[in-house]
Amino acid sequence: MIVYCATTNVGKLKEFRKAAEIAGCVVEVAPGLDVIPVPDETGSTFEANAILKAEYYGARTAGYLFCDDSGLEVDALGGAPGVHSARYAGDAGDAANNALLLKNLEGIVDRAGRFVSVIALVENGRLVQTFRGTVEGVIASAESGPHGFGYDPLFCYPPWNCTFGEAELARKAGVSHRAHALKLMFEFVALPRNHSNSIATYRSFPFRST
Ligand code: IMP
Repeated sequence: MIVYCATTNVGKLKEFRKAAEIAGCVVEVAPGLDVIPVPDETGSTFEANAILKAEYYGARTAGYLFCDDSGLEVDALGGAPGVHSARYAGDAGDAANNALLLKNLEGIVDRAGRFVSVIALVENGRLVQTFRGTVEGVIASAESGPHGFGYDPLFCYPPWNCTFGEAELARKAGVSHRAHALKLMFEFVALPRNHSNSIATYRSFPFRST
């Protein structure tokens, strides 16, 4: 089964495809994504932003489409960076976000936090369901590891005693917040449905113009 996603984040896309492979599904990037203006993520929760993005892109794509809204919550920072994870340090990117996180945690001993991923699934533009996954960890005092993206080099996963940045994609795909949420979603789309979810149905859906 093909499920469309709407992301320009290469790191996320690799994880989507890995989870799809494990579930026996195929993830494709929604057609025309590069020419559609990016919506403002105005929600104050991961759920709100995931739904906002999925409904926005789903209105232009027939069949199943999902969007992930995700981020890092650090207890000592009151849950920050949270929904602002991608732009914690403005538009400067991952390295600046990580540097700011380390600065804000200077002198703080309790560095517990978690990654959260919420996936919103729409079908023909209408919300079907959301799926939430989390993984608990500890923020390291320095970046470590070449793998992953975003805060991965700072996110120490206690059972492995190393950061996600030090773990290859296949290992992260077994335990991550996104892996948990994706597993729930792929299990859901594989369930028998009352109506046909065949490829013919996808093709016959009239595209909405906006
Ligand atoms: P979004 O694209 O609005 O969902 O923002 C996600 C942001 O959260 C990313 O740009 C990263 O900064 C952070 N993030 C989410 N998931 C991960 C992950 O698996 N590893 C590292 N950083 C992540």
